[in-house]
Amino acid sequence: MAQKEDKLLSKGYEFSSVEEKWLQKWTEEGCFDAKMEDGKPSFSVVIPPPNVTGVLHVGHALNNTLQDILVRYHRMCGDNTVWVPGTDHAGIATQNVVERQLATEGKGRHDLGRDAFIEKVWEWRKEKGGTIVNQLKKLGASCDWERERFTMDEGLSDAVREVFVRLYKEGLIYKGDYIVNWCPRCHTALADDEVEHEDTKGKLYHVRYPYADGSGSVVVATTRPETMLGDTAVAVHPDDERYAHLGDIGIRLPLTDRVIPVVYDHHAQMEFGTGALKVTPSHDRDDYEIGLRHDLPLLKVMDDKGVMNEEAGEYAGLDRFECRKKIVADLEAQGFLVEIEDYDHAVGHCYRCKTVIEPTTSLQWFVSVRPLADKAVAAVRDGDINIYPKTWYNTFYSWMDNIRDWCISRQIWWGHRIPAWTCEDCGELIVESTDPTSCPKCSSTKLVQENDVLDTWFSSALWPFSTMGWPENTKELQTFYPTSVLITSFDILFFWVARMMMMGIHFMDEIPFKDVYLHALVRDKHGKKMSKSTGNVIDPLEVMAQYGTDAMRFTLTAFAAQGREIKLDEDRIEGYRHFINKIWNAARFALMHVGECDNSVKKVVENPKELPLVHQWILSRTATTIESVRRGLDEYHFNEVASANYQFIWGEFCDWYLEWIKADLFSDDPKAKEQAQGVLLTVLETILKLIHPVTPFVTEEIWSALPGERSPLMTSEFPELQESWKNPEAEAQMELLMGVITGIRNIRSEAEVHPSNKIDAFVNCPDETQRTTIANFAAAVSDMTRLSSFTVQESGEKPDDAGTYIYNDIEIFVPLAGLVDVAAELEKLARERKKVEGKLKQVNGKLGNGKFLANAPDAVVAKVKEEKEQLDAKLAKIGEAEERYKKIG
Ligand SMILES: [Zn+2]
Ligand SMILES: [Zn+2]
Repeated sequence: MAQKEDKLLSKGYEFSSVEEKWLQKWTEEGCFDAKMEDGKPSFSVVIPPPNVTGVLHVGHALNNTLQDILVRYHRMCGDNTVWVPGTDHAGIATQNVVERQLATEGKGRHDLGRDAFIEKVWEWRKEKGGTIVNQLKKLGASCDWERERFTMDEGLSDAVREVFVRLYKEGLIYKGDYIVNWCPRCHTALADDEVEHEDTKGKLYHVRYPYADGSGSVVVATTRPETMLGDTAVAVHPDDERYAHLGDIGIRLPLTDRVIPVVYDHHAQMEFGTGALKVTPSHDRDDYEIGLRHDLPLLKVMDDKGVMNEEAGEYAGLDRFECRKKIVADLEAQGFLVEIEDYDHAVGHCYRCKTVIEPTTSLQWFVSVRPLADKAVAAVRDGDINIYPKTWYNTFYSWMDNIRDWCISRQIWWGHRIPAWTCEDCGELIVESTDPTSCPKCSSTKLVQENDVLDTWFSSALWPFSTMGWPENTKELQTFYPTSVLITSFDILFFWVARMMMMGIHFMDEIPFKDVYLHALVRDKHGKKMSKSTGNVIDPLEVMAQYGTDAMRFTLTAFAAQGREIKLDEDRIEGYRHFINKIWNAARFALMHVGECDNSVKKVVENPKELPLVHQWILSRTATTIESVRRGLDEYHFNEVASANYQFIWGEFCDWYLEWIKADLFSDDPKAKEQAQGVLLTVLETILKLIHPVTPFVTEEIWSALPGERSPLMTSEFPELQESWKNPEAEAQMELLMGVITGIRNIRSEAEVHPSNKIDAFVNCPDETQRTTIANFAAAVSDMTRLSSFTVQESGEKPDDAGTYIYNDIEIFVPLAGLVDVAAELEKLARERKKVEGKLKQVNGKLGNGKFLANAPDAVVAKVKEEKEQLDAKLAKIGEAEERYKKIG
């Protein structure tokens, strides 16, 4: 007895203490630790490393819930399972945070100097960098936390260096001029995703460029007239007859004494404006490409601060926007300005300081990606790597086809400093695995290391193998590489996923992961992107505190359908909290009856055919659910995992099975009781295992209260499909009985028969087999619907005063005379009808009034219309109810 009381679950599910308890226990008992046993299949996942500056948002919650589900599932299947956690040093983002901190002390990073600044960043990381990791732990993420890595830790930095040196020696890393997104404030090149495009009300300046021979002119348009000083050509379409003769003549560039060529390029559109484009290869991305195609010179007219340089002639020394004003004034004064047009367009801004980006050429480091990309494409085409959902294949191929060389240098301090040195005496460039002390060419010791650091994505591209100890050939690499699946948000398919493919295949000679599952962004319930400014952000930590972590995890899982937008609605989270409570309450009920059982009672399920129908049915449904859940997990249909569990647990186990077996559980017949206990315990255990990967906390807590000594549920075996439990015949019979019961209950509730009133029921069932089944279970049906008599017949007249329900070809009648005070009910309805009709008259009056319609605001009119619809619906309902009662009366 003492044991039962100890183990009995508390009345309500108190998630916060339960979650805390199990997070600690799982860790203490080493449940998260990776296993590397011989002869077992492996399942490995590397976490998409969140930024070390990160705070858990709902996207992380989704991403990590899905990973955790798979990891828990495979761990329970007995695979050698590992989930490698870690964080990304997030170059610019982290540098920003520390710079902002310094700014509050009135200091900048240059006041500290490089080394002291980097030390500050490490300090920050030590103090604050653990936030996201602790939040992931709270989410229940079953990572092997002992293996936590950081993209800047020693091992990973070694891997970065090794990769850089090897690629350089293979000729796949080079230094060259390239057009980059330049922030003149931060003095750094920015990746495309670090540029924020904002719609801006700007101007389009139309400028006349005279032909060099004075025979005419062409008008070009630009939003940035100051860049014309860097023009090195005018481009027109090759088919454009208007300019066919200009090739030999050229253009005299206004405000300068230069003559520039006309080039024929397909990028120019004949129908757009005059069909002519000014070409500034040093300050525009498209123009840079045109320049490459026609071998045009690069002419940079601004310095790194956005100030015009000596190439700008008399404009040198002016800030670019000052220069713009002066150029426009001069063009106008000299008669070159044709028109200034208002022009709304997207302007790129630096994501950290909001300064307008200046596309510009600068000397940068590049990875020559074509050969690497080709191997990645082949791996996907050959099916070595599968992408889910399938809709992403085309996007992937087209992006890889058009891939540009990857600019990997960043002009910041926080990150992997480029391991290249220049000899100050002879100019030799030295790239080695160990820091050089003297120049191999001239023996000079005056060596200067590159100031730039590597793009953050460079180190994360190595993540699947660098975290497992590469370049050493570790046991981890042998056991866990290639990893099994990568789960990530679709928006980093190119920045990260594709680059991991390239690096993994190149350095490991093997793909980094077999499957890629791309999930959607989590939006608000209206499908809008969540943002602080819109105020529609759902904070996962708040949700977890309010509804419990399991409820949130289950909701996210239920929404994770391949290829569908996720519109997260808090009402759904609340709804699923009820589901979690439902499981809890069902388990409490079950424990009252099986809490003291010996686990040997479960033996009864070995011969399911010897059990009463209801048990055969629930075992068969359990088998089907095992199948659906496994299929969902194996094929990444997470929403189906959620719905299979939900429908089975709530709709079948709780709503039907528990009620049906109540009588047996309380029975004096030991055999009936034992059978019920054995099946109940078996099914409950199976349910807990099936849904554990999605809702780990509540299931673990219930599991620990089940009879006998138990090691944690998360290390138990995932249910195998039980062929012997499958029983379509039992399922069909039970479905029939449930249909009849539902029908009788339906009539009862529609007619509002008081629960204490017993009723008579008639069933007309033309099929003989079905009729026999119903007759055989007449007692159970009577019990569950509170019948005083139950007539099952092939056919029969409908009693005059009966309520009717049709189930397939079965008619169900329940005589209602005397059970319902028809006159009183009709009177009630008549009063209700009068009220509704009165209101409806008012509303119709308004809607028939032209003045009202013309003058009232749209929102008010809409509201009145909505009111009318509601009243109409109400009236229809009243009519239906009146009909029902009239039939009875
Ligand atoms: Zn900036
Ligand atoms: Zn030298």
